[in-house]
Amino acid sequence: MTINTSSKFRFLLFFSIILFVPTVKAQNEAYSEPQSQEIADTTFVNLKDYSKDFVYDMKYATEDNFLKAKVYDCAECLLRYKTVQALVAANKEFMKNGCKIKIYDCYRPLSIQKKMWEIVSNPEYVADPKKGSIHNRGGAVDISLVYADGIELEMGTKFDFFGIQASHNYKKLPVPVIANRKYLKSIMIKNGFNSFDSEWWHYNLKTGLKDKVSNQTWKCD
Ligand SMILES: [Zn+2]
Repeated sequence: MTINTSSKFRFLLFFSIILFVPTVKAQNEAYSEPQSQEIADTTFVNLKDYSKDFVYDMKYATEDNFLKAKVYDCAECLLRYKTVQALVAANKEFMKNGCKIKIYDCYRPLSIQKKMWEIVSNPEYVADPKKGSIHNRGGAVDISLVYADGIELEMGTKFDFFGIQASHNYKKLPVPVIANRKYLKSIMIKNGFNSFDSEWWHYNLKTGLKDKVSNQTWKCD
């Protein structure tokens, strides 16, 4: 079999592309995301180290919650790396429409879950620490949406409102409230999360359900 000049040229071109492209790609990746290649999906990281585009209102680091108790020494949003990646991707989509995610709660150490259970030992309101919740696994977030000026979109109830009105299935709400909840849910589901029927604010990363519960805590200054 003979190869004519034109085929030879194409053959050389093909190889020079194969040799050249991965080199350029590797250099770009190493430059733009130096940490990403070293971090396992399940490593716990702090959301603020990966994005400055979130608004925080960490209720359990205050007494402004249904427990009426401050159970975190300070407000930090730790999550598994894969949860952070999915959440950042979702937030980018919300930002295209002029709003962003406000965070109420993230990873919750098992010791804190036990503390909450001691205050309210009712599985309707607090997950039994014997079973643990997805919050204890670093795969759950409690969130809402705010406009650019920080004003929260109307969601019908406050965070941690324990009543039927907080359910995705409750439809006796103003049309904009239902639309806001639907919008939040649609973008979160598109980015790998599951909603939780009785709490409009709670989202679980689908791939985080089987991760181990953890008891590591974070440092406070
Ligand atoms: Zn939650």
